[in-house]
Amino acid sequence: CRVVSGAGICLKETPLDDNRLPLTLTAGDHELHLHATMRYSRTGEGMHRFTDPTDGETYVYTQLFLDNVQHVFPAFDQPDLKATFDLTVTTPTNWTVLTNSNTHQQTDGHWKAATTPPISTYLVAIAAGPWHSIRTQHRGLPFGIHCRRSLAPHLDADAEEILHITRACFDRYHEKFEEPYPFDSYDQAFVPEFNAGAMENPGLVTFRDEFVYRSAVTDTERQTRAMVIAHEMAHMWFGDLVTLTWWDDIWLNESFAEYMGYQTLTEATHYTDTWTDFAITRKAWGYDADQRPTTHPVAPTQVDDTATALLNFDGISYAKGASALRQLVTWLGEKNFLAGINTHFRRHKFANATLTDFIDSLAAHTDRDVHAWADAWLRTTGVDTLTTTVDTRPSTWTLTLRHHGTRPHRT
Ligand SMILES: [Zn+2]
Repeated sequence: CRVVSGAGICLKETPLDDNRLPLTLTAGDHELHLHATMRYSRTGEGMHRFTDPTDGETYVYTQLFLDNVQHVFPAFDQPDLKATFDLTVTTPTNWTVLTNSNTHQQTDGHWKAATTPPISTYLVAIAAGPWHSIRTQHRGLPFGIHCRRSLAPHLDADAEEILHITRACFDRYHEKFEEPYPFDSYDQAFVPEFNAGAMENPGLVTFRDEFVYRSAVTDTERQTRAMVIAHEMAHMWFGDLVTLTWWDDIWLNESFAEYMGYQTLTEATHYTDTWTDFAITRKAWGYDADQRPTTHPVAPTQVDDTATALLNFDGISYAKGASALRQLVTWLGEKNFLAGINTHFRRHKFANATLTDFIDSLAAHTDRDVHAWADAWLRTTGVDTLTTTVDTRPSTWTLTLRHHGTRPHRT
């Protein structure tokens, strides 16, 4: 370790505080060089290592969201501190290395990835192992889907369906968004022992490999997989190209991808009933979370640390937020909404933005008061209730609507 042109402290001597390295620096520019040796993980956080009991093959992949980059490499870990990354990877010679960008083998077992555009630390990704890969191209970009070898026949059986959904969503997003896909490749890796559904690493989306179906499944399960493909792809623009400044806006990240995923799947594929699925499975999750003592506004005002941010990862941040966004699109008109989104991408690409920036971008394309809408729907908790009563006296018929709550409704 060394600090150039600074105090010249040797960090080897500095004890870690909660796995953080305290730095006390004098005024002026400093250059920090760190060499670190880190452990693999068995919890799905950091760089997870898995040995397949079927054939003894080993795979590793990263999951750095939300603050797990600290388990893989040292970094100034804040979403608004973006950097370009140059990765070189050394592996056993029969492995393939996937990263955020195009990655090629230089010599046996030595891999080099193209320099990434500016991305946040939580979005850096590597997946390495003797993958079974299906590679193709779309609009001049390398597309790949990957899984562990023992699942190869099952991925092969569904490859055409997965790639068809991928291409259809990719094309539809290019009709909606003016910014072209911001990265140089699009790999989707189905990885073992994954904690979540999927993760939107730029150019390398990781999915739980339960999505590689090994037995007969329902159309609803196939639709769910398609939905996750569409959701993660929406993040390539909203989340990866334009990233939240801080974790208080995680709901916007997720709700946008949720809204866009369902909507785009409906428009671009044969899954045309996705909003019914949303109403049954997702929205109820939001209603449930919103009527508990632990409810919180869709857009919380105070998220002091990453632990607090993770507490908000619930039906409110995903489903209620997506419902509110869908209602916002209806209220503004889709044309105005997409114009606002494109302004937002243009203003903040390869950088960061807040909820206020988002609302400002939308407000540029409408006369309606989007800020007041945000205050009424995003900064409040709980549900409004509309109750109807019908009076059917002879020769008259009267409908009365009672509104319990504070938000404006149109029926
Ligand atoms: Zn998401």
